[in-house]
Amino acid sequence: MANGITWIESHEIDRVAREQRVYRTERCYCGWYFFYGLCGHMTHRHPLKCGRTRTRSGQSGFCKIPAPQYNIRTHRVNAYCNECLGGQ
Ligand SMILES: [Zn+2]
Ligand SMILES: [Zn+2]
Repeated sequence: MANGITWIESHEIDRVAREQRVYRTERCYCGWYFFYGLCGHMTHRHPLKCGRTRTRSGQSGFCKIPAPQYNIRTHRVNAYCNECLGGQ
């Protein structure tokens, strides 16, 4: 029986995060999207910004600080976290 998890490569994270985006308001999906890897630990923190807020330096920023954090449970990344890769 399928467990409903789709395995992805790290270059697919941006696309998947956008597909899975969570709207805090009708138009804003700003936040950190957390992805988990082969070891079950978080491997990527991916920022998504809806583009409605600019920082003082003119780059896009989060609408809400601190930005909301969302765990992506439908997709897992074919990678290990840094700690499992060889850290102590
Ligand atoms: Zn936003
Ligand atoms: Zn790990």
